Amino acid sequence: LEEGARSCLLRFRHRLEQDIKPSYLMDHMISDGVLTVDEEERISNKPTRKDQAVALLELLLRKDNRGYISFYNALVKETYGDLANLLHDDLPQTLPGAYKSSSDGCTSYVQTVLSEGGVPQRPVVFVSRPEFVNCVREKLYRLQKEPGWVTVFGMAGSGKSVLAAEAVRHHGLIEECFPGGIHWLSIGQLDKPDLMVKIQSLCFRLEQSLDSPSLHRPPNSLDEAKERLRYLTLRRYPRSLLILDDIWDSTVLKAFDIHCRILLTTRNRSLTDSVSGAKYEVEVESGLDEKKGLEILALYTNTKLHGLPEEARSIVKECKGSPLVVSLIGALLKEKPNRWRYYLNQLQQKQFKRIRKSSSYDYDALDQAMDASIEVLPDEHRELYKDLSVLEKDIKVPAKVLSVLWDLEPEHVEDILEEFVNKSLLFVDSNNKPHLYYLHDLQLDFLVEQNRTQLESLHNKVVHQYQQHYRDGPPTSGDEECLYWIRFLTHHMAKANLSQELYSLMFSLDWVSIKAQIMGPAHLINDYVEYGPILDKEVMRSQFQEFLSLNGHQLEQRPFPDVVQLALSQPHTSEVYRQALLQAQDRASTG
Ligand code: ADP
Repeated sequence: LEEGARSCLLRFRHRLEQDIKPSYLMDHMISDGVLTVDEEERISNKPTRKDQAVALLELLLRKDNRGYISFYNALVKETYGDLANLLHDDLPQTLPGAYKSSSDGCTSYVQTVLSEGGVPQRPVVFVSRPEFVNCVREKLYRLQKEPGWVTVFGMAGSGKSVLAAEAVRHHGLIEECFPGGIHWLSIGQLDKPDLMVKIQSLCFRLEQSLDSPSLHRPPNSLDEAKERLRYLTLRRYPRSLLILDDIWDSTVLKAFDIHCRILLTTRNRSLTDSVSGAKYEVEVESGLDEKKGLEILALYTNTKLHGLPEEARSIVKECKGSPLVVSLIGALLKEKPNRWRYYLNQLQQKQFKRIRKSSSYDYDALDQAMDASIEVLPDEHRELYKDLSVLEKDIKVPAKVLSVLWDLEPEHVEDILEEFVNKSLLFVDSNNKPHLYYLHDLQLDFLVEQNRTQLESLHNKVVHQYQQHYRDGPPTSGDEECLYWIRFLTHHMAKANLSQELYSLMFSLDWVSIKAQIMGPAHLINDYVEYGPILDKEVMRSQFQEFLSLNGHQLEQRPFPDVVQLALSQPHTSEVYRQALLQAQDRASTG
């Protein structure tokens, strides 16, 4: 820590110790990477607030300039304006030599601009994602000549914030496009009063850095705050970039609709619909590729890539490379390096609650991150989203299937699904006509875990809705919707414990004929093997299975053979024969 800063801390030590609430400040400092979780814990374990404050200052004095800057920014964020004032004059101007790497355009000038603007540092363990970083930078260059919005969107924990911070860590970009500086504001879910406080503290920070700070009283309404910010960005900080991290609500965005340059991160793609100006967007992929995922685990555990145990690959695979999950587990392994198998098991058993906060991430655990997305849905849509718990992993469904399940018009269903997609709660495969929708594995795991006790009744609903809709017989068109039902109806019945329904379906020659025609005999045989134990009718099951095995080849032929004819050559004691005979007699009588 440089001399001026140290002396300043020592001078105001008592004031600071009197007033600060260390727990709030430390959260910011962890996110800046200047405090470790261990250090935080040691301080939090002190009995009183005052003891904690003393310990924090003691620690700060042993840290470098970044610690001081981060502490200052934390004070501003937590609206300790007066205290921040005391520290302001001694803010270190340059950072230690280690940060002067200019190879990737990240010079000490960049470091200074970014730390003054409160932009978080790189996470301790970091892998580059050049394809996305470049994409964001390219959009930011479009804001060089005119104000506008760049939206970075993607699902929870996909690395949006890290990416936004990384994108501006670039000398050329700052110099050419944002010489007025880069200002970071963490938003999250908040109400109006909180929003006003945020804007106030931003205004405060901006005014503070001017040579002649104004002596305005703080704005006392949201509109006033907005006007203040408009004045500051237009007059005093022209060509600056405001980064709004984690926006949920378009009303929040409207407060920033002041003709300035904004980069925002969100799970909700369509937020900027309600504001004016040029708009650009970048979608962040939810997962890292395997190599990057492994790299994170290797860095956390201080191992070489090829020295990683076999579980490493499974962990990355299990969470589909989610940066959040891989990092959470990496951080845990760093503390407990021989728990590879244990954490892999927890991940496989969806023990999300155990995969606890161990980094700066805002949410205590992964499940809270997921839950937060669902909580903001309107009530009726939250219920519909819950219904998706019955889907199978990696299975994509057309809107029409859900239209049966929800008993809503297909157009209405499309609108709802679009909302889910926009909020990063669902994915869409738009290469396919009709579009197909699917959940990320982690989302599905989360839903299943959350609705564990209701799964049976959710599957029951699927079967019930199907039966209502297809009263006159199963779909036979062969389109996506029909494929879904023919393939998964038995599955839903089994999960709903509807053994009677399952029984009538699987021991019906009609159903066998339709399913064989649409999916081929292998799927059917599989059904008998899988659900046989539930059906508990060994003789009948072996009769149907035998029929399929014997005629498998024929059933693959097109044109599709006459199943009744084939069935008539079964032994006369077989149920298959009995049904075929009835149908043949029926045919004869109706001519
Ligand atoms: P989001 O903003 O999309 O919710 P974040 O950007 O906050 O996600 O990232 C969540 C966590 O994932 C971070 O705290 C970090 O640990 C990890 N992470 C994200 N991106 C990277 C990266 N490029 N390298 C290493 N870890 C990352």
